[in-house]
Amino acid sequence: MSALTATMRILEPYPGIYVYYDGRIEGKRLHSEGPNWVDDGAYSLGIASYAIVAGDHALVYDTHMTLEHARAIRDHLAALGVTRFDVVLSHWHTDHIAGNEGFADCPIMALEMTARAMAENREKLETGDPPIRPVVMPSRTFADRLDLTIGDRRVQLHHFDIHSHDGCVLWLPDEGILFAGDTLEDTVTYISEPAHIETHIAELDRMATWPIRRILPNHGDPERIALGGYDKSLITANCDYLERLIDPEEASRARTQSLLEFVERDIASGAILYFAPYETVHRENVAAAGRQPVDT
Ligand SMILES: [Zn+2]
Repeated sequence: MSALTATMRILEPYPGIYVYYDGRIEGKRLHSEGPNWVDDGAYSLGIASYAIVAGDHALVYDTHMTLEHARAIRDHLAALGVTRFDVVLSHWHTDHIAGNEGFADCPIMALEMTARAMAENREKLETGDPPIRPVVMPSRTFADRLDLTIGDRRVQLHHFDIHSHDGCVLWLPDEGILFAGDTLEDTVTYISEPAHIETHIAELDRMATWPIRRILPNHGDPERIALGGYDKSLITANCDYLERLIDPEEASRARTQSLLEFVERDIASGAILYFAPYETVHRENVAAAGRQPVDT
């Protein structure tokens, strides 16, 4: 095992559904003490990739934050007898695509928008800290929706413009299980495209109309994920949070309150859990939402 994957846990919340979870260990960093995307955007908050397995076939949802993680996922699946790997990317951000090289010989599926964003940001991705080099591009793209089967499980890929304009969720319609990528996040969503906040809210409302039984986000609490994931109240909590950040009165409250105080009600109801490193995310979100002119 590589030292980089020493803290990765493999969970199986449902038969044939595996979670490769790493990080969310208070005080522990993986890459370096200085600011870097592995620790600050992924490891400190906790990050999961997923696989749906049937016999010798696996669908891998995100290739994780390092090539070593991708190799560990592939080794685990190979040990289960998997010989055919398909990959789906949830969106173009570093911590979801860094392991693509480990699956470069497999079909890598993504929204056209994801491929475009990766191509446009290639230099940034290849020169970041740490660099993702080479950036391995998707080999099969689709516009808005793609239907697949893994064994006898029906799997649908759908576009949602939440968190990132190119969000791609994975939906198991027969089981009501939603793999949310970064469209939903516990403790709160990470506002990376503040100009789209109103779209994010509308898209969360659309998502909330789906018959969702359980949600598996890429950044969430490992115990909750191990027990099968979140219920739909996670959607409401993430949506309310955004609505409040663009409401002038609530936004001014957010500027003086900690995250713990600001989302107290949703923590008390159990819709979300509290993880202290999200205080930093919240401060950045408040600043990002505040810079954004809001139409009334
Ligand atoms: Zn992420």
